[in-house]
Amino acid sequence: MLHVTCFLCKKNYTIDHSDSQYQKIKRNPKAYYVCKKCNKSMKEEVQQKTGINPDMIDKYDKYL
Ligand SMILES: [Zn+2]
Repeated sequence: MLHVTCFLCKKNYTIDHSDSQYQKIKRNPKAYYVCKKCNKSMKEEVQQKTGINPDMIDKYDKYL
């Protein structure tokens, strides 16, 4: 279990290995965590603004 703070909404979460970002945070504790809710709304927002498909946004996610 890891305690993380969402980069966008600043809420605290506890994640485990079932979370897709768990391995990323575990490898690099300074990596930013974006909760599922923010992740979803961010992707939708980017998609609406840019028309970029979700595969492209996954690459964008790595910059966070
Ligand atoms: Zn959030």
